[in-house]
Amino acid sequence: EAKSSGTGEIRLFEIWMEQAATLRSQLEHELHQAIENKEFRVFYQIQVDSNLAPTGVEALVRWQHPTRGLLAPSEFIGFAESSGMIVEIGLQVLETACRQITQWQDAPQTRELVVAVNVSAKQLYAPSFVDQLKQVLRTTRANPACLEIEITESQLIVDMQVAIQTMQAIRAMGVRISLDDFGTGFSSLSHLRQLPLDQLKIDQAFVRDLSLNPNDDAIVRTIIELGNTLKLDVIAEGVETWAQHERLAQMGCERYQGYLFGRPCSVEDLNLAPGTVRHERAGLHYQTAYSL
Ligand code: C2E
Ligand code: MG
Ligand code: MG
Ligand code: MG
Repeated sequence: EAKSSGTGEIRLFEIWMEQAATLRSQLEHELHQAIENKEFRVFYQIQVDSNLAPTGVEALVRWQHPTRGLLAPSEFIGFAESSGMIVEIGLQVLETACRQITQWQDAPQTRELVVAVNVSAKQLYAPSFVDQLKQVLRTTRANPACLEIEITESQLIVDMQVAIQTMQAIRAMGVRISLDDFGTGFSSLSHLRQLPLDQLKIDQAFVRDLSLNPNDDAIVRTIIELGNTLKLDVIAEGVETWAQHERLAQMGCERYQGYLFGRPCSVEDLNLAPGTVRHERAGLHYQTAYSL
């Protein structure tokens, strides 16, 4: 009952609200500054195929904050999304990723690498997004086939028809589309069939508990079969152990991303060279480029 909460508690709540508002406006100010000063950096995390050969990378934004150091997306993406600033930040990430594609497309060993870029709902539903994408591809001269847009399942629910139209326009440019965090949203099978997609990305929550939780085994197996039926690539994210990798391979998964193959890092630290470290497990021999 309202009367039973003392005025002290209410005062405490007010102080907390004031502090939260102060922090929010400080973050807003700093983010505006960050956009202007281009303080965002793009890290890349490797993705590999069945032979553990790199097929591409996911671009993951970091904020090089002037006093707080390198900040992970969890520190600012939520606010950037709710304030709309993600549109500008996302554009900077897209430009950086496309410039990276242009650098890689000149060398034979890196020519076919696909760079996946996360796009939030605010970006996807902005009427200017398709034109911006075209513009960035034109000015950077990046090969569209080397760009992949990652959209989460939950974004589609906002307005399925607009999402589908935008996705069709993206694919018409030759850019790939991957459905991120798949299995955590609510897209029905009939929706999935309508979507212009190239890849399903199994959410890391299902990968984490593989072989521990029989339900997760069943979900992962179902997603892989669904991908095969719909002729989509399937990639597993959050792969941390060889046991998880082995289970996924048995179930027919052919692409992997996770700490096992490399953490997100700067392009300078990225190891794309063909294998040197040998891993042996249960009679399987892998040639990998990664120190285990
Ligand atoms: P996401 O797109 O699902 O990206 C995967 C996240 O899982 C990344 O976190 C990655 O570092 C982490 N991860 C990769 N492998 C493993 C693993 O083996 N184990 C574990 N525990 N985690 C792993 P990160 O970089 O902190 O990004 C978090 C989220 O922030 C992303 O989730 C994405 O939703 C968002 N994000 C990142 N960059 C951008 C961006 O440029 N634009 C937008 N709109 N969102 C972004
Ligand atoms: Mg992603
Ligand atoms: Mg994901
Ligand atoms: Mg995620």
